[in-house]
Amino acid sequence: MEKKLNLGTLCVRAGYTPKNGEPVEPPIVQSTTFKYDTSEAMARLFDLEDAGYFYTRLQNPTSDAVAAKIAALEGGVGAVLTSSGQAANLFAILNVCEAGSHFITSSEIYGGTFNLFGVTLKKMGISCTFVNPEASEEEILAAFRPETRALFGETISNPGCAVLDIEKFARIAHKQGVPLIVDNTFPTPINCRPFEWGADIVTHSTTKYMDGLATQVGGCVVDSGNFPWDEYSDKFPGLTTPDESYHGLTYTKAFGKMGFIMKLVAHLMRDLGSTPSPQNAFLLNMGLQTLHLRMRQHCQNAQAVAEFLRACPKVEWVHYSGLPGDAYYERAQKYLPNGSCGVIAFGLKGDRQTAVRWMDSLRLINIATHVADARTCVLHPASHTHRQLSDEQLREAGVPVSLIRLSVGIEDVEDILNDIRQALEKI
Ligand code: PLP
Repeated sequence: MEKKLNLGTLCVRAGYTPKNGEPVEPPIVQSTTFKYDTSEAMARLFDLEDAGYFYTRLQNPTSDAVAAKIAALEGGVGAVLTSSGQAANLFAILNVCEAGSHFITSSEIYGGTFNLFGVTLKKMGISCTFVNPEASEEEILAAFRPETRALFGETISNPGCAVLDIEKFARIAHKQGVPLIVDNTFPTPINCRPFEWGADIVTHSTTKYMDGLATQVGGCVVDSGNFPWDEYSDKFPGLTTPDESYHGLTYTKAFGKMGFIMKLVAHLMRDLGSTPSPQNAFLLNMGLQTLHLRMRQHCQNAQAVAEFLRACPKVEWVHYSGLPGDAYYERAQKYLPNGSCGVIAFGLKGDRQTAVRWMDSLRLINIATHVADARTCVLHPASHTHRQLSDEQLREAGVPVSLIRLSVGIEDVEDILNDIRQALEKI
C-alpha cells in the first residue's frame, strides 16, 4: 500500500497502521525486554526463525515503526535506526568492511565523518582513501584496490554545500562490484532519493531535518535491496557465507533482499549496541510527520536569504545550489529539482574577526553547533569546530577562513532577513 502513496502522506502515515481501537500514534514501548510463554517460542526468535522482539538492544517496536517510515520515504526494502548519525555511517561501513578492508570516500564530507573514516576506522584496521568528488571517473577508479569494499559520499556536503554526482559515483562503484553508500542527511528523501540514481545504501543523521526541532540525536541506515551481494561473494563473506557467531546462518540466503539489514541488526546491533531509546524514536517520528512541510519552508527561506546575501556588497561569496551561477546549480536542477535544503555557506569580506563581529551582533539567529533546525542558526568553523587550525591549515582542510555556515530555519523569512541585515550594519 505504502509504495503508491505520495511522500507527504508517507511522512504522516507510513510505518504504523493502527488496528481497531489502537492508538493513532505509535506507542512508546519503553521496555528493555519482552516476555514469552514457552522456551521454544523464545528459542525460535533467537534462531531468527520467527519474527518478534526479545531485547531492545537489537529491535524495538517503536524504533522499527519509525525505521519502516524512513525506508518507505527512501524507497528502500528496510531500515534500522541508530543512536546517532555517526553510528549510522559507522555501521553502514562495518556491515561490509572488516580489518584489512579498504573503502573510498568523497573528501567533501562532514568533519565528524572525516575523522571517523580517516582516524578511528584506520586504528581498527580499515583504511580509506579520500577522493575529490569532482575528479574524473578514471581518477576515482584508480583509487580502487582488490580489498576495496565501498564508495561513500554525501548528497549535499556539510559544510561546503557541494552536490554529489550520484549517478557518476554509482557507475564507478558498480564497475568495481561494490556498493555506493550515500549520506542523505541534508536534502532528506523529500528533496532527493539517492536509490533512484543508483545508490545502494543510504544513511542519515536523523538529528537534523528529520527531527527538525533539536529534540533527539539519532541516525538511520536504509537498504535499497538492490546490490547483488552474492555475485561478489568473495568480497562480502560476512553477508554471503555462514555466520558462525549466529548458528551458521547466511544472511543473504536466509533473508534475501533483507540480508544487509538483518546482518546489521543481528550482528552489529547485537555486538555494538548503538540503538536509540524508544523515547527518541518516538520524538523522531513527531518530526517526520511534518518533514515535507518543513523542508519546503526551509528551502523557500534559504533561497531568499541566499539571494539577499549574494546581492550584499559586504558579502564576498555565497554557496547555495539554488542560486543560478552557483557551481552546483545545474547538478542541483537534476538531483534536487524541488529544492536542496536550508544550509548556506558564505563568506564576508574581511578577516576572522569580521565573521565573529557579525555573529555577535545577531539578535534572533542562534550561534549553535547544529544545522537543519527549525530555528535559524549559525556557525563559523574557523572560530568553533576548527578553531585550533591556523589560516593555512584551514585552507588545506578545504574550509575557507571566512566560511560561515548559516542554517536557515522556518521562522518568518522577513525576520531572518532583518536580523542578518542589522548585524551586517554593525561590521
Ligand atoms: N552526517 C552528516 C551529513 C552530518 O551533518 C552529521 C552531523 O552534523 C552527521 C552525519 C553525524 O550525525 P550525528 O551528529 O547525529 O551523530
